[in-house]
Amino acid sequence: MDAEHFRDFGKAAVDYIADYHESLRNRSVLPNVQPGYLGELLPEDPPQSGESWQDILQDVDKFIMPGLTHWQSPNFHAYYPTASSFPSIVGELIIAGFGMVGLSWIASPAMTELEVVMMNWLGRMLELPEEFLNCSEGPGGGVIQGSASEATYVALLTAKEKKVKDLLEKNSNLTEAEIKGKLVAYSSDQSNSSVEKSGLLGSMKMRLLPTNKEGQLTGATLQEAIKRDKEAGLIPCYVVANLGTTPTCAFDNLEELGPVCNREDVWLHVDAAYAGTAFVCPEYRYLMKGVEMSDSFNVNLHKWMLVNFDCSAMWIKNAKYLVEAFNVERIYLKDQHKGLAPEYRHWQISLGRRFRALKVWFVLRIYGVEGVRKHVRHQIALAQYFAELVAKDQRFECCSCSMGLVTFRLKGENSLTETLLNRLTEEKKFFLIAGHFNNTYVIRYAICSRLTEKEDVDRSWNEIIRIAGNIVPWKITEKEGLPGLNINHLNENIEKSK
Ligand SMILES: *Cc1c(COP(=O)(O)O)cnc(C)c1O
Repeated sequence: MDAEHFRDFGKAAVDYIADYHESLRNRSVLPNVQPGYLGELLPEDPPQSGESWQDILQDVDKFIMPGLTHWQSPNFHAYYPTASSFPSIVGELIIAGFGMVGLSWIASPAMTELEVVMMNWLGRMLELPEEFLNCSEGPGGGVIQGSASEATYVALLTAKEKKVKDLLEKNSNLTEAEIKGKLVAYSSDQSNSSVEKSGLLGSMKMRLLPTNKEGQLTGATLQEAIKRDKEAGLIPCYVVANLGTTPTCAFDNLEELGPVCNREDVWLHVDAAYAGTAFVCPEYRYLMKGVEMSDSFNVNLHKWMLVNFDCSAMWIKNAKYLVEAFNVERIYLKDQHKGLAPEYRHWQISLGRRFRALKVWFVLRIYGVEGVRKHVRHQIALAQYFAELVAKDQRFECCSCSMGLVTFRLKGENSLTETLLNRLTEEKKFFLIAGHFNNTYVIRYAICSRLTEKEDVDRSWNEIIRIAGNIVPWKITEKEGLPGLNINHLNENIEKSK
């Protein structure tokens, strides 16, 4: 394919994407296909000679489109959002267009340097402590990882190397292998599965500690677990705190966990994969109080900050530890211009890196900080509106409402809620998933799509209560909504944040 054909193909593809986004509201969010459907439709062998792009684009429509789950549909309420926006899509296109791999500063200076600037912009947007930023005097710095899972794993490996080195320097009577065999990590039983996985991959015992009724890990629980392990001769090494858990978007209290970690000399990593984006709004920053006591912090821009997957922002208070843990250079060259031009290959698992900073730049410039705030506030207002609808219906319980996530259930046996979710899923018009809250079965309803509006929330709620009407034959009476919420006020919030 030459450049002339590329112009036509590329322009047609952009039109195709724009049409797709405009059609999303009218599509069933879940596809109607069976496992193995595609293998039956496509030829067994690749074509011997090339085909036309027109044919390929047509086949996308014919074969691929019917098998898509529409993550950007306004009726997609499962998991957490996966961000997408037009500036970011264009960013991805141009990144591919440049076709580079940033394995060192000289491999493409703009790539490293834009990442440094973006990580500083983002750190300031979230009001992270200055010492985490590349532009600070100290050894702090930010880097873009591929995912929150990678960030958690990278932080674990760094904590492990640091702990081993510290103990060996202190003339511990243990060998390196003995120390490594005794290390323990901690998080809560509400943490994302990727946290447990990081322990598996990093060969570190991971204790998933019980949370309180609000889904938070308390300082006392952590302190107690650490004490018990130390008494058993083990070595506490790493803690992952959640700011916005996956099941209910609960926030651990860093002001409690921070002092325990600092006192015990344990690395504190903050997983704010989804909810971290909310810290662009000053009114939510109280939820990260104590963040200055953490050692590393992570937020997925690809969840809530309008940047397409993959893009996960990570800051480390002392990046020296990370670089020391990950550096394999035979001749160790001291990083002379750290802060201005870090060698990011020492900050991550793979050697090669994508130019993710470019799409961040596009998004932040097109939306501005205010645009991101609006997006966050609008989605929170919609979630609160949904929670209030649930709370006012006597048949339902609203179990949690935090940021853009609501969990709810039908009163009574878990099986009622399960039936409700199964029937809703069978219709394929709305996509919600199950969760657990204090040992009960709940449905998670997350505001995910940029396109979701109040009318969409109303339509999904109406469908839920239509199905519920067939499951619980009780008479419906309206009851008091949630404390502090009121529909008129919520409507105002939704309008204001548009
Ligand atoms: C989604 C999520 C993750 C995993 O994010 P990836 O980028 O897919 O690895 C980790 N932690 C929390 C709290 C999450 O919500």
